Amino acid sequence: MHEMSLMESVIDIVCETARKNGATRVKAVRLDVGVLSHVDPDALLFCYEAVRHGTMADGAPLEINRVAGEGWCLDCGKTVALEQRFGACPHCGQHRVQMTAGDELKIRDMEVV
Ligand SMILES: [Zn+2]
Repeated sequence: MHEMSLMESVIDIVCETARKNGATRVKAVRLDVGVLSHVDPDALLFCYEAVRHGTMADGAPLEINRVAGEGWCLDCGKTVALEQRFGACPHCGQHRVQMTAGDELKIRDMEVV
């Protein structure tokens, strides 16, 4: 499963960062997940709970922050809301919109003790 390997690397980064900061335990993890990314937040939560087991992040809740889709319309020359990947510009209806936000999956922040 795609989400499983994603969450394995998230846990790796989280635990590595916590260790570098001299922490003994991870208290919470927050992720930015774009609405246009090909991941399912429910699957992410499920996989997170499976992979955190036995790590420093065991028991740490995961919070998922959904990031809205946004793109740069080459015809309008401005940032527009993007409802879907390769969607049309809401102003001019053209499809020359380059996605600038909504595709991310990154660690926003975390709490350690
Ligand atoms: Zn446009």
